[in-house]
Amino acid sequence: MSSDYNDNLWNDVLKELQNNIQPRHYEFWFQNSKILALTDKAVKIQVSNEIIKQKIKENYLEHIKNSLFKCSGNELEIEFICEAKAEQQALFDFEIESEQVSQEVKDSTTYPPINLNSLYTFANFVVGPSNELAHSASVAVAKAPGKAYNPLFLHGAVGLGKTHLLQAICNGLISQGYNQQIVYLSCEEFVNEFISAIEDGNLGGFRYKYRSVSMILIDDIHFLAGKDRTQEEFFHTFNTLYNCHKQIILSSDSPPSEIPELKERLVSRFKWGLVATLDVPGFETRVAIVKKKAKLKNKELPDGICQYISENIVSNIRELEGAVNHLLAMAELHKKEITLDFCKRALKDIIRFNEPEIELSDVLEATIKFFNIKITDLQSKNRQQTVVLPRQVGMYLAKKLTKYSLQEIGAFFGGRDHTTVLHALDKIKELSQTSPRVTESLVEIEKQILEKKY
Ligand code: ADP
Ligand code: MG
Repeated sequence: MSSDYNDNLWNDVLKELQNNIQPRHYEFWFQNSKILALTDKAVKIQVSNEIIKQKIKENYLEHIKNSLFKCSGNELEIEFICEAKAEQQALFDFEIESEQVSQEVKDSTTYPPINLNSLYTFANFVVGPSNELAHSASVAVAKAPGKAYNPLFLHGAVGLGKTHLLQAICNGLISQGYNQQIVYLSCEEFVNEFISAIEDGNLGGFRYKYRSVSMILIDDIHFLAGKDRTQEEFFHTFNTLYNCHKQIILSSDSPPSEIPELKERLVSRFKWGLVATLDVPGFETRVAIVKKKAKLKNKELPDGICQYISENIVSNIRELEGAVNHLLAMAELHKKEITLDFCKRALKDIIRFNEPEIELSDVLEATIKFFNIKITDLQSKNRQQTVVLPRQVGMYLAKKLTKYSLQEIGAFFGGRDHTTVLHALDKIKELSQTSPRVTESLVEIEKQILEKKY
C-alpha cells in the first residue's frame, strides 16, 4: 500500500481512538506513531519506544484492532515496532508499574474462603423472559470460565437476582470440583481493601492478590462511581486478568455507560464481553418464583395465593420472597391454614401500599347494599337493632380495611366518638365467634369491597 494510504488510514484510526481515550493519554501514547507497513492481513505500527509499546499492547490493543477493522475493513494482525529504544520511564509516573513481586508477598497472600449462600444456585433460579439472557450467559461462563464471555456484565435494579446469579456461578464451579482460585467480593470490599493497602503501604500485596486469581466476581461494581484511585487500580487488575484470559464477572445497578463518574476506559472495557440485563419479571415468572420459594421451605402454596402475592408485588423479587417467608411464618405461628383471607391479613402491611386505598365510603356503600338500608339511617343516631348491627359491622370493616383512625371512623358513621367505635369492634368480634350469620356477612361484605376495588 502507498504511504499516503497508510497515513490516511492511520489518521482515521486515531480519530476513532480519540473517542475512547482521554486526550492527555491519547497524545502521550500515540505521538509519533504511524503505519510502517500494511497488507490485508497484517499491519506494522511504529510507536515511540519500548515502554509505550508495552502499554499500548496492554491497554489499547483491542481498541486499535477494532478501529483498524472499522477503517480498513480487514481483521489485521498487529505488530508494533519501536522508533527508539530510549527509556522514558520518568514520564510514566501516572501509569503504574511492571512491579516485581517478591516471594515474600506471594507467600503471605491469603484468600479468605468465599462466603456464599448455598441456596443461590442455578437450580433455585427461576428463568423467564426477564432474565433468560443473563441466566444462560452465567451458565455458559460457569461451564467454561474465561472462554464464553469476558467480561460478563450483569445489570438490573435492586432485588432482581444479580447476586443470586453471581453466586450460582461460584457454587456451580465449586460443586463441579473447580479447584482454582475464585474471588467473589462486593465492590465495597474491594474499595476498602484497597484503601487499607494504601494505609499499610502494602499495594504490592494487594496487586499481586487480585491480579493472580483465576476468576474474579465483583458485585455492585457501580460502587466505583467517583472513586478515581480505585478505578485506576481496578483498571490494571482488569487488564492483567483479561490479558491472561481469566474470567471477570461484574454486576451493577445500571449499564456501564450509565454508571456515574466512571472513567471512560472502564466503561468501554465493561462492554467488551457480554452485557446482560435483568428486568422486572412478568406475572408468570413471579408466580413460579413464589412457588419455588415456598418449595424451598418444604411448603406448597395454593395457586390462588401465589397469584395474589404475584399480582400485588411486582417490581422486586426480594420483596416477593419476603412476603412468602412472612406468610409461611405467620401460618406456622398461628397454626392456621393459608386461605386467601389469611394471606391478605398476614401480608396487609407488605402489600397495602401497592394497592389502591380503601375509603370509608367504599365500606359504607358495600354495607348498606348488603343490609339493604339507607345511608341516612346508617349515619343517623337511630338505635334500632336493624340499623345498629349494620353500623357496627361497617365500623369493624372500616377499621380492618382502611387506614382511618377510630375518631375518623366514628365521625364518619354518624358523629360518634372513638369509644363507640371501640365498643362496636368488641361487639362484632364477639358476634363473629358466636353467630355464623354475622361471620358470613363480614366475609361477604369484605369480598364485595375488595372485588369492587381491585
Ligand atoms: P440483587 O443482587 O439484584 O439486588 P438478589 O440476587 O439479592 O438481587 O436477589 C434478591 C432475592 O431474590 C434473592 O433471595 C434471590 O434468591 C431472589 N431471586 C431473584 N431472582 C430470582 C429468580 N429468578 N429465581 C429465584 N429467586 C430469585
Ligand atoms: Mg446484590
